[in-house]
Amino acid sequence: MLLRRLPGLLQARPKRMTEACGGRRLHVYAGNPLKNRGGAAAAESLATVLLGNDGGDHKVLPLQKGRPLTRSDVAASLPTWRLSWLPPARLGLLPAESFVYLGSDAGAAHYWAVDAGELDGGDGSSFVDLRTLMHAADWSDEQAMEELAIAGHAKALLEWHGASRFCGHCGGAMVHIEAGRRKECTNPSCRKRSYPRVDPVVIMLVVDKENDRVLLSRQSRYAPRMWSCLAGFAEPGESLEEAVRRETWEETGIQVGEVVYHSSQPWPVGRSSMPCQLMVGFFAHAQSLDIRVDHDELEDARWHSREDVRRALAYEEYDATRRATAEKVNQMCNGGEDKSQRTQSSYPAMSGELGPMYVPGPYAIAHHLISSWVNENGSDGVDSLSRKSTSFSSL
Ligand SMILES: [Zn+2]
Repeated sequence: MLLRRLPGLLQARPKRMTEACGGRRLHVYAGNPLKNRGGAAAAESLATVLLGNDGGDHKVLPLQKGRPLTRSDVAASLPTWRLSWLPPARLGLLPAESFVYLGSDAGAAHYWAVDAGELDGGDGSSFVDLRTLMHAADWSDEQAMEELAIAGHAKALLEWHGASRFCGHCGGAMVHIEAGRRKECTNPSCRKRSYPRVDPVVIMLVVDKENDRVLLSRQSRYAPRMWSCLAGFAEPGESLEEAVRRETWEETGIQVGEVVYHSSQPWPVGRSSMPCQLMVGFFAHAQSLDIRVDHDELEDARWHSREDVRRALAYEEYDATRRATAEKVNQMCNGGEDKSQRTQSSYPAMSGELGPMYVPGPYAIAHHLISSWVNENGSDGVDSLSRKSTSFSSL
């Protein structure tokens, strides 16, 4: 069987654990607690509120160019960020149809997102790039993890709205329906509907079982010394397993046999123009070993021994970088940083002696694919990984 699932792993609610990397059972951007997303009644209720009448409990997250409004909580020893939810009255000048529904929680509050345009965030808050919040988040802080998932959903929905103003069939204007969770063409002879989409990206750790090593690669945009898994978009008309084999072959000339599913991660902070990618992680058995790097795609690709990869995972800068980024967010929220500098953070902040290499931090599925392989006992590799569901507990 080419695709093996790890049953039930992703159904679990985020669970506080004490292991390294925060011990989360869910990837960053997964585990959104706003599960109830039927928006029609909520939209009616919000319209009432915006008209100045009392209504239900509504909370709005403003975003500016995809950056959620954020405040800093300095009560803890290390500054902690939180999303800054506003009452609809603070945004009453925006038309009701510009609000998109995010869902409701168990407490029956309704949550919305809106593109805030040039709105000023106000004292103690700032619009902060989602990647920066991701790097600043404490992995054991469940609220921060849930808010990252909500903010990722909000960013992706608003970007989809911004990129689908006109009908792809007839060119007519599209309007929100179902509280912004769908769109429909206004041309009466067309009426085509449009739905938010995700773009699947396969990400694979290619394993050479015989020699107990894995294939890691570098792209020119990576920070110095960072290596990671191969990845690429699935194309129309191919399965995910086929995409794993094709991308690996195209980028490195390695032939892949068995492909084994590991886990998946929503990724609303991709560098392409797509609102939300879905990273689908696999282990891939190498059937050939000679590397031929496609230099249009990669800077380099090499086999790395288990010991070298273990050392790369033990990189000590992850937590230091998180703390430095948390301080930066605090400064941004409290006016201590030049607003013109509010660009995406570079990760990690390099310091100290240079080690031979490191891999992406625990925010990335690549980290967990790599650590799952490294932390397996013995060298039987992929087969045991697919059976041993506990390998996922390092998330
Ligand atoms: Zn149309």
